[in-house]
Amino acid sequence: MEIEDLARGVLEGNRRALARAITLIESGRADHRQAATRLMERLNAEDHGREALRVGLSGTPGVGKSTFIEAFGTMLTRQGKRVGVLAVDPSSARSGGSILGDKTRMERLSRDPNAFIRPSPAQSHLGGVARRTREAIALLEAAGFDAVLVETVGVGQSETVVAEMTDLFCLLLAPAGGDELQGVKRGIMEMADLLVVNKADGELKSTATRTCSDYAGALRLLRKRPQDPEGFPKAMTVSAVEEAGLEGVWGEMTALASWRKDHGHWETRRAEQARYWFEAEVREGLLARLKREPVKGAMARMAEEVERGEVTAAVAAETLLREFLQMPDAELADQ
Ligand code: GDP
Repeated sequence: MEIEDLARGVLEGNRRALARAITLIESGRADHRQAATRLMERLNAEDHGREALRVGLSGTPGVGKSTFIEAFGTMLTRQGKRVGVLAVDPSSARSGGSILGDKTRMERLSRDPNAFIRPSPAQSHLGGVARRTREAIALLEAAGFDAVLVETVGVGQSETVVAEMTDLFCLLLAPAGGDELQGVKRGIMEMADLLVVNKADGELKSTATRTCSDYAGALRLLRKRPQDPEGFPKAMTVSAVEEAGLEGVWGEMTALASWRKDHGHWETRRAEQARYWFEAEVREGLLARLKREPVKGAMARMAEEVERGEVTAAVAAETLLREFLQMPDAELADQ
């Protein structure tokens, strides 16, 4: 496969090239991994100046994420925008299958020529999924997409991962009584730029409105963040089924994005994210090497020496690390 052709295809926004490129970055094979790295470097060097609005979207199962994404994505493509949908699904690592970003759940959007949906890659660990998702975001951006929605299920760690690769974080919520409001973890609430109470229709409408003002009240109690203009983070209601309030959500997203761009927070945030991922990759690379030969064997041998009291834990660790950090990096293969 010619990387140059693939890169050109992606830059031209060619769907087949994009699909092939994403398959390449998701592959675990060492030669594919190398090709993927070359592709990403090539695109990075292009300086195409394209920027998608990257939106993280989270919520517990059943809250209406796929219904919302389908309706929201379709609303955007109707306006002539190109929309990518990716997923970070911590459960797919265990089950081997993906429950998020599933094409069958978003039938209309998956047939839309201006949309591109990709389920979560099946990977054994969140770090691997994170890298592939970041690369997929970069591919969609290079291909000229206007918005990239990264969906994740609201179960803790994956939100942090998604928030570190997106510009905005949107938490989808269900209409609920006051007690359940407490159930939203403070950490997740502090990460959110928009709290969107879905299902504001029919019998649920008044509950949704009340839930929304409860959340708005809770948001006012949070410490003001420098990256927010007045009024953010914001709570609002939508009905994904009735497709109501969706333009409003997009309006708030773009208003927040342009305020942050005007006030220097946008670039700062992306720069901080790049740094975060660099450091995360270094940490992961080091840990991966610890689990591979020859370090793995050396570590096991030294652990026995430590057990027998022949050497202290500190000295053994020091010796191992010295040896380990001087290791040639020819071993750095796919993870
Ligand atoms: P997900 O698990 O978060 O992806 O949730 P789904 O999109 O699969 O939706 C879960 C259920 O909620 C489905 O039965 C949907 O029809 C329903 N649902 C989603 N959005 C709305 C909405 O706006 N109003 C109402 N009344 N039901 C909705």
